[in-house]
Amino acid sequence: MKLLEERIARDGIVKEGNVLKVDSFLNHQMDTALFSALGEEWARLFADAPINKILTIEASGIGIACVAAQHFGVPVVFAKKSQSINLDGAMYSSKIESFTHKRVYDVIVSKKFLGPEDHVLIIDDFLANGCAVLGLIDIIKAAGATLEGVGIAVEKGFQQGGKKLREMGVRVESLAIVDAMDAESGAITFREQPHQS
Ligand code: 5GP
Repeated sequence: MKLLEERIARDGIVKEGNVLKVDSFLNHQMDTALFSALGEEWARLFADAPINKILTIEASGIGIACVAAQHFGVPVVFAKKSQSINLDGAMYSSKIESFTHKRVYDVIVSKKFLGPEDHVLIIDDFLANGCAVLGLIDIIKAAGATLEGVGIAVEKGFQQGGKKLREMGVRVESLAIVDAMDAESGAITFREQPHQS
């Protein structure tokens, strides 16, 4: 999506360690008009899918998912990061390894908010190694819900997450795919995606 690529090229900062900082518009200060444009594009791309719920993960997925959900007219559920899992059977849980924080944590979703009747679109800000999305897919499977697809704002195409998911047959629409980035020059190369706006 050209609008997002242009914004990343203008305001994104390439850090050492393959980290792209986009905190001036995406995951700290948030440009909600941009989020709305992302939501409109996902709604266009997934127009044929019977999505009735959006699933994301705290914290940085929540803002994007909520604004995007307005273009789908469906509720958003976010997986909560939890220190202590409540073992009374009322929650689905999965373990996720954080790319940015390098640690493993549990995420939980209440059984009240996800079930076999749900057709789910996962939305998140970044796709790197895919751990976050794979954890959410585990939860969708445990709930007996149907995964309709994954909408990502920024995919780092040089990491394995996108490849893994597409090889599993998951429909992934990343609105910007960074195929290469260089911390020294700040240069960012995007993958061509002619089907996007
Ligand atoms: P994954 O689980 O796919 O390895 O990583 C996804 C999560 O890690 C995202 O939810 C995002 O919060 C964080 N993340 C991964 N790579 C980056 C990055 O380059 N920049 C930022 N800001 N967050 C990232």
